[in-house]
Amino acid sequence: MTAPEHVDILGVPVHAVTMAQTLALIESYVTEPRLHQIATVNPEFVMTAQTDAAFRHILRTADLCLPDGVGLLYAARRMGRRLPERVPGSELVYHLAELSAARDWPLFLLGAAPGVAEEAGELLCRRYPGLTVAGTYAGSAAVEENDDIVRRINDSGAQILLVAYGAPKQDKWIGRNRDNLPQARVAIGVGGSLDFITGRAVRAPQWAQDHGLEWLHRLYKEPWRWRRMLALPRFAIRVLFDRGTDLSEAAIPARSSRHDN
Ligand code: UDP
Repeated sequence: MTAPEHVDILGVPVHAVTMAQTLALIESYVTEPRLHQIATVNPEFVMTAQTDAAFRHILRTADLCLPDGVGLLYAARRMGRRLPERVPGSELVYHLAELSAARDWPLFLLGAAPGVAEEAGELLCRRYPGLTVAGTYAGSAAVEENDDIVRRINDSGAQILLVAYGAPKQDKWIGRNRDNLPQARVAIGVGGSLDFITGRAVRAPQWAQDHGLEWLHRLYKEPWRWRRMLALPRFAIRVLFDRGTDLSEAAIPARSSRHDN
């Protein structure tokens, strides 16, 4: 399937897809015999990618970078481009679990605190009868654990892998294991989604999401994140005023044919 259109936001490609199109793309990815990487991009990702070249490369070579952050929609509009809607990873996991139950795709949930992936798996199975959770494991993104985790996923026969190590760790984990997971077809960095499923974290109310105020809710719930969240005003300033650095033409080759790399 041809890659969807993308908007280049400060050197990071963000694909112009809806939730429905994302699910259709995932259906096509499952038929192709290789792992497809999906990232759930928000302004924090974009700002991290400004200084972390390895992360930037991962995003530029991912098959799909979803617009998981209303700030990206505003940024695209400012550039005269359009991203049709937000595709939040935390909502995608539910749709994907439903689709996986219907299509018989086994799921593996990796990451989050011990016990969380297991509980999230049980909750998803209860909600979507017929869903197979082939495995769950907290583990860590540390290199020493890599081989063990890869073995667990391969032994499970999972076709869909959700990785919850937070960004950029989860996306780098997937990036470095793209060729180590021959049975998996789709791997998605899902951030705090497993915590949302189990109720350990609560998403912002819909009105806050609709008005781009999810960050305020998060700051209230998790005030220790304030330093990381400075990325948001920095992102806004860059989008509004910066016409300078254009990482899109940087030495890193553009995505589109990652499997050639
Ligand atoms: N997490 C983890 N190992 C780590 C860092 C984070 O398993 O070394 C998990 C954490 O428990 C949570 C998820 O990653 O379930 C998302 O973390 P965070 O909220 O920091 O990520 P974000 O959603 O902001 O990307």
